[in-house]
Amino acid sequence: MSIEFKKISGKTRLLNPFKGNTLDQIPFEIRFDPLTGATGRVFDLPFKAEKPDVADIVDRSKKIFCPFCPAALEKSTPEFPKDLVPEGRIKVGDATLIPNLAPFEKHAGVAIFSPEHFLPMEDLTPATMGDAFSACLLYLRRVAEFDPLVQFFSINWNYMPCAGSSIVHAHLQPNAGEVATNALREQIEGCRTYGRVNQRDFWQDFIQAEKQKDERYLATIGSSFWSTSFVPVSFLPDVQCVFPERLSLIEMSKDDLEYFLDGVSRTLKYFLQENIYSFNLSIFSTKEEKGHRVNARICPRLLPRPIGNSDIAYPQMLHKESFTVRPPEVVREKLLESFTS
Ligand SMILES: [Zn+2]
Repeated sequence: MSIEFKKISGKTRLLNPFKGNTLDQIPFEIRFDPLTGATGRVFDLPFKAEKPDVADIVDRSKKIFCPFCPAALEKSTPEFPKDLVPEGRIKVGDATLIPNLAPFEKHAGVAIFSPEHFLPMEDLTPATMGDAFSACLLYLRRVAEFDPLVQFFSINWNYMPCAGSSIVHAHLQPNAGEVATNALREQIEGCRTYGRVNQRDFWQDFIQAEKQKDERYLATIGSSFWSTSFVPVSFLPDVQCVFPERLSLIEMSKDDLEYFLDGVSRTLKYFLQENIYSFNLSIFSTKEEKGHRVNARICPRLLPRPIGNSDIAYPQMLHKESFTVRPPEVVREKLLESFTS
């Protein structure tokens, strides 16, 4: 097994005014992602998020037009061409899936969770999330049958404006296309390189290595593996999920989805305890890349200080370098409470 959790530990020297201007050393780590080699900086700072004024955000969102509320949905949102979706819009339980008017991909949908304008994070349970995710899987399967050129799939979620969502009304964004995004391409290249060098499957080795280390591992829920990420991509550590037996989103079963949503709801329960009320979620998948597996990340999003500064700044934006203010091994302890209860 050749999974490497490589990190370089360093210290920055300075005269610290909070310690009587004596010589101080601030530790930091540069970590290397075991799959892609991408680096990220990890600190251990005494950061604690403050709960945002959610009621105020929801009130402001109600003062602007919402195309996903029942009064507007039929008239103000597009329908799919009949050859792709004969019924125009896909409906599963409370969820409605429509084309994305601002498409990110050749095939881009928006799955609206329910008629409710605001779905509080406290209410995001497997039951309330299931219909929208099921609709996305149905849509991606149809796209895969309809368009043989499509090779890459994802299901994405910006929850609340702090995570980039322009509409508070909860919705997912399933995408399918012919060109992988940077993150997915780097995953695929990492899998190919690992397979070529080691003659082994990356994900099996990775899962075994994380379980053996037992520093970030959270749980195995049915067919899904859960841990914090060795190299987090967000300001606070993210949670990752892998389906080691699933090559593609289009082969995900009803049970797989239940396991996934169980893990998501446990993650969100932890986020709420930490006053985090916004997140990004992506599930990455290819159609048939042999060494790749369906995997996901759930990233906390927040405005770190009361002036409302973004948690994304020059490092992520321009250097493509993540920085994280808490080590994933430290937050794992509290996450475990949520994953084992
Ligand atoms: Zn609405």
